[in-house]
Amino acid sequence: MPKLLLVEDEKSIAEGLAITLEAEGFQVAWVKDGLDAIPTWERVRPDLVVLDLMLPGMSGTEICRAIRSRSDVPIIMLTARDAEVDRVVGLELGADDYITKPFSTREFVARIKAVLRRAPMVDVPIDEAPVAASGVRVDRVRHEVQVDGSLVDFPPKEFDLLAYLVENAGRVLTRGQLIDEIWGSDYVGDTKTLDVHIRRLRSRIEADAGVPARIQTVRGVGYRFADT
Ligand code: CA
Repeated sequence: MPKLLLVEDEKSIAEGLAITLEAEGFQVAWVKDGLDAIPTWERVRPDLVVLDLMLPGMSGTEICRAIRSRSDVPIIMLTARDAEVDRVVGLELGADDYITKPFSTREFVARIKAVLRRAPMVDVPIDEAPVAASGVRVDRVRHEVQVDGSLVDFPPKEFDLLAYLVENAGRVLTRGQLIDEIWGSDYVGDTKTLDVHIRRLRSRIEADAGVPARIQTVRGVGYRFADT
């Protein structure tokens, strides 16, 4: 039975969700004060955290940062309507998804299941076998990349980023996921570093870096490597 920690101060929303989630087979721990979130997370060790942003005691962003510094547990943020900034901040902090209020319970359950389905894949140890997608073949053991059959050299961080993108071809990777994976979850530098590396990769693997076909931008979220 998957365990879910719900951090939400609005009783009507929390109760509605808890009833639905329990009917779907989840075991739900609900806290309404931000200060209770971390101790409850430590005690329950849930499979998924659903985190409201505006909370008494401790904000959703602080809680997200604190959990993410210690765990890869999937986190879904609840944000206010049209709060674009909150959404981006949430993903940069390492949240896996966000749901904008108001939302339908059915949509909410579908998103939770989607995140849980994806989650184990992130933690699977990297297979040593070469991977290929969209004409790019990456061999981590030999530290080699072939683009359309030709060997191309990449500096270490660009190699790591490309390898991770190709290994996850077809999946949208958030900026937070990419930064965590390549620079580590304690990285505090400029998030533009990621864009610079993406630009360099594109200049070397795209036929036209201005119209990238392999490394696709998913606006406001992150990037996806084409799996054709
Ligand atoms: Ca709230």
